[in-house]
Amino acid sequence: MSKPDERHILALSGGKDSAALAVYMKQTRPELPMEYVFTDSGCELPETYEYLERIKAVLGIEIVQLKSKRGFRHYLKLKRGYLPTPLNRWCTEYLKLIPYRRWLDENCGGTIMHSYVGIRADEDREGFKSREGIVQHHPFVDDGIVLDDVKDILEDAGMGLPAYYSWRSRSGCFFCFYQTKREWLGLLEHHPDLYAEAEAMELASEAGSVFTWCDDISLAELRERRHDVQCPISQAETSHERPRLGEILSNHFARDKYTRILR
Ligand code: SF4
Repeated sequence: MSKPDERHILALSGGKDSAALAVYMKQTRPELPMEYVFTDSGCELPETYEYLERIKAVLGIEIVQLKSKRGFRHYLKLKRGYLPTPLNRWCTEYLKLIPYRRWLDENCGGTIMHSYVGIRADEDREGFKSREGIVQHHPFVDDGIVLDDVKDILEDAGMGLPAYYSWRSRSGCFFCFYQTKREWLGLLEHHPDLYAEAEAMELASEAGSVFTWCDDISLAELRERRHDVQCPISQAETSHERPRLGEILSNHFARDKYTRILR
């Protein structure tokens, strides 16, 4: 049972695991007065907002939406056009962590905060570092919940997966640098305006250097070569069309580069 000076927070990411955890908490710990928070980077996919609405409707909950006071473009300018990378994730700090920490400071001072994180039992990752006064919980890890269970939880709840899962494997900003080339091409197909916006950011550097979201190809180049990148994948993997792949390899890319492009 919860005490008056304790709060129970579930931070939704807009992805499947945290959504499934919201369902799971209702099913398995209904006595807890859960609160739901979503930190909006301001650069989310439209499908993410649709999914949050679906979560609210299915579970009958409210979701507190947090947002950085200044948007991505402000920080990109401060960084002189230096795009974030896996080694320099300034985007996460400014757009996600700082607004969340600020909200915690303003709302949860003097209370013990229980934070529920949707890391699954079949994942090898840790959550963000905990702070004093915050108790982290990993119900999926504790209960042995794996990916198939998460899908079942969402299916049974009538929630399903976020629509972007048909072409992208993770939630987050439309320009997230963790995307594979295929996912970038999924963005081009489903949201050509957002692809163009990300493409324009590659040209925005004031530091005299060209920064690209992918480490080996610009989005303009990827757009140009989209048919070469997409078509041979299925043909090469499923049919006897390998000579065509070899032809394209020699026409367009060095073999090692092409291999990287198919990630
Ligand atoms: S989703 Fe990707 S781009 Fe957005 S804040 Fe997170 S790491 Fe950065």
